[in-house]
Amino acid sequence: MTAQTAWPENVIARYLTLAGATVDLTHRNETEDGKKKATHAACTGCKATTTKTWADSYPNYGRPGVTEFQNQGVGDRSARAWAQEHAETCRALAAPTAPVAAPEPQADPEPRRRLWFPTRRKTA
Ligand SMILES: [Zn+2]
Repeated sequence: MTAQTAWPENVIARYLTLAGATVDLTHRNETEDGKKKATHAACTGCKATTTKTWADSYPNYGRPGVTEFQNQGVGDRSARAWAQEHAETCRALAAPTAPVAAPEPQADPEPRRRLWFPTRRKTA
């Protein structure tokens, strides 16, 4: 249940719930132009989500078109706090995304070769 699986792209933090589901934190654009961003937390077990919008955006004058945020840290921290709290109480199981199939037995194309070392002659 707690086996490490590859994290989905963009997941910045992941919390394991009591039941073995995860709460995933991602950054995402709230608007198309990227002038409003948020830290989004979503539970894979019960589908509870929260979005902590970053306040106080300002243009980055060194990189035109890039918007910076003063409160990304606040958004991250409050999303992490929510995720932590939710993970401690949520008992919903994650729905399997695909029917769990036994991994197909992989036929070895070649019999595994064992390295052969000559036994060392005892000189003593
Ligand atoms: Zn949940």
